[in-house]
Amino acid sequence: MHRIGVFVCWCGSNIAGTVDVHKVAETLKNEPGVVYSTDYQYMCSEAGQNMVKDAIKEYNLTGVVICSCSPRMHENTFRKAAASVGLNPYMVEIANIREQCSWIHKDMATATEKAVILGRTAIAKVQLNTPLVAGESPVTKRALVIGGGIAGIQTALDIAEAGFEVDIVEKSPTIGGKMAQIDKTFPTLDCAACILTPKMVEAAQQEKIKIYSYSEVEEVKGFVGNFNVKIKRKARFVNEDICTGCGLCTEKCPMKKVPNEFNLGMDNRSAIYIPFAQAVPKVATIDPNYCIKMKTGKCGLCSTVCEAKAINYDAKDEFVDAQYGAIVVATGFEPIKVDKFDEFAYNQSPDVVTSLEYERLMNAAGPTNGTLLRPSDHEHPHTIVFVQCVGSRCAETDPKGKPYCSKVCCMYTAKHAMLTREKYPDTDVYVFYIDVRTPGKNFDEFYRRAVEEYGVHYVKGMVGKVVPDGKKLKVQASDLLNNKQLHIDADMVVLAAAIEPSKTARPLATM
Ligand code: SF4
Ligand code: SF4
Ligand code: SF4
Repeated sequence: MHRIGVFVCWCGSNIAGTVDVHKVAETLKNEPGVVYSTDYQYMCSEAGQNMVKDAIKEYNLTGVVICSCSPRMHENTFRKAAASVGLNPYMVEIANIREQCSWIHKDMATATEKAVILGRTAIAKVQLNTPLVAGESPVTKRALVIGGGIAGIQTALDIAEAGFEVDIVEKSPTIGGKMAQIDKTFPTLDCAACILTPKMVEAAQQEKIKIYSYSEVEEVKGFVGNFNVKIKRKARFVNEDICTGCGLCTEKCPMKKVPNEFNLGMDNRSAIYIPFAQAVPKVATIDPNYCIKMKTGKCGLCSTVCEAKAINYDAKDEFVDAQYGAIVVATGFEPIKVDKFDEFAYNQSPDVVTSLEYERLMNAAGPTNGTLLRPSDHEHPHTIVFVQCVGSRCAETDPKGKPYCSKVCCMYTAKHAMLTREKYPDTDVYVFYIDVRTPGKNFDEFYRRAVEEYGVHYVKGMVGKVVPDGKKLKVQASDLLNNKQLHIDADMVVLAAAIEPSKTARPLATM
């Protein structure tokens, strides 16, 4: 049995404010193998470390348990201290009684009981530990980037430029992600495509980068430096290597009523499709949920017109096993569904749109070729109401929304408002906000330009209700600064939906 010393840290009042540290040290004294137990105000300080070192020597300790903060913070500190007086550093274990105990509990009795349990667990672990000697193992000098949006692309380019091979796994048929759907960036109003598309091309041409588009990570095994990853390459039913991206199949395909996800369902695509003109790789993909041949056995027109003979209706998913030393997760975000907020009538009128839908309506490559038209009747809107914080900054108890600020919506709403007034000066633009949050270089100046230069009406207050009424949307809102209720007849309402991590993030996290 090991001779164990236990050291309970107060972390000032961080731990001692909620955990009875003396009681923890006293209780743990009685655990099997514990020959010394004490507590101290700052165990990581020089005096605290000396206490540990002295006790190791004085009591001939063969194991140490530090009840303190997360091992991420100071495991190394205490292992080094132990090693300096000849104890194998891997005989030191940390019981995290701060992040996992004092910081998340209010009741001292409960927190103290839990701290004792965490301490006991660490003591039991030390009893089973064997001294280890650090070794070296070879590292696979190849990286995996999961997600082919702008973050993933830039990461892959940086890794490749540093001289390493890197693979991008992207679930969609093309890389590009959300930025491909965006018209302009803030605060410079740069053309988003002019920043993104050259990087997409560069990633495709960079010898050290391999792109697995229309693919997903199925399984991750191994450890840091040596991961074994199984990648599923979903059947595209088009041979990526020989498709020229000519687009003839998409023209001739008789199934043209498939909601186009690139334009958020505001127009249609065919069953065989290329997501957008600048897609990388620019190859066709058959959507088996809509392809007539896949559903009924009839058609086959795309195969007839494809001169490259790239179509293969019998294609199956394929799996690739690959080794990586490092994995970067860049799976991005999704706007939350806004139809659960009945008060904004998103489901009741096509003229209530999300900001991303508005982005597509303003985009030269969007469903209206960049002309701002009201979705219901394709008329030019004259009054537009933007609503910020839809689903953001909600009460913790509100299951419909998120408690956090989504951080980007104040800025992109200012951008939308400004671009709308610039292109259509005859349009009245209102922005309803709780607070305008613009922390970033030149961000506040950008927002002020929207107000001062472009005449956007910023109103501090919430929109209470949107009611479709004939061709109009009746907006009821409060103007808190002037203590007034407002009634606005709007032609369009644009909702700045909260954002959340992409749906793929959670299953990936569990891998
Ligand atoms: Fe052209 Fe054939 Fe590719 Fe369709 S599948 S884009 S027809 S090469
Ligand atoms: Fe379109 Fe399917 Fe017919 Fe090809 S086989 S043209 S994808 S419906
Ligand atoms: Fe935060 Fe502004 Fe978005 Fe509201 S609209 S969530 S304040 S960034």
